[in-house]
Amino acid sequence: MLLKRLEAFGFKSFADRIEIEFDKGITSIVGPNGSGKSNVTDAIRWVLGEQNIRSLRGNKAEDIIFTGSSLRKPAGAAEVSLTFDNTDGKLPLEFQEITITRRLFRSGESEFYINKARCRLKDIYTLFADTGLGKDSISVISQNKVDDILNAKPENRRLLFEECAGITKYRDRKKEAMRKLESTKQNAIRINDIIGEIE
Ligand code: ATP
Repeated sequence: MLLKRLEAFGFKSFADRIEIEFDKGITSIVGPNGSGKSNVTDAIRWVLGEQNIRSLRGNKAEDIIFTGSSLRKPAGAAEVSLTFDNTDGKLPLEFQEITITRRLFRSGESEFYINKARCRLKDIYTLFADTGLGKDSISVISQNKVDDILNAKPENRRLLFEECAGITKYRDRKKEAMRKLESTKQNAIRINDIIGEIE
């Protein structure tokens, strides 16, 4: 699974559409301080479903939308797309190439797409669970993240090991199954109450 391309517009400092092609091997992004290098990794984490705005160096969701400059109006929305080569079938979808897109409007409305088909954030999490790019993964290590990992509580550090060991999706499925079980139990209690009232 190779990350082939990143496209973004209206995201943080990227007022205009940017497109970065990633080739096989190592890609380095260089530039002066404040030129937007970290915004590239923020864009990658955001489209993969990062929900913690502080870890994207903002205070509120809207902070990731281009705020405008002396020459440009603020953007109405931010959009980021990542395209993966899936010829090795690592992502569990029958496509050779998979593009995921996330869009946020100033109104707060959010949209997610997989190959241009609207989906839920949960579908993005499920697609990448255990690929190394899931929500608890450390594929993208931003500044200060190393300290965070070293200082993390054991239970939080365990999440990283679970992601690396490929069991995240089973943990998520178990959580979902437990939730359904609980709701079924509540329904059964309610039905018994109704039966009791009728009898
Ligand atoms: P350094 O080398 O110092 O770490 P960098 O190249 O990684 O810097 P970034 O931190 O990616 O730079 O980018 C910071 C720039 O992004 C700042 O100039 C900041 O004003 C700009 N920026 C961040 N959010 C927005 C936004 N919502 N709208 C416009 N510009 C933004």
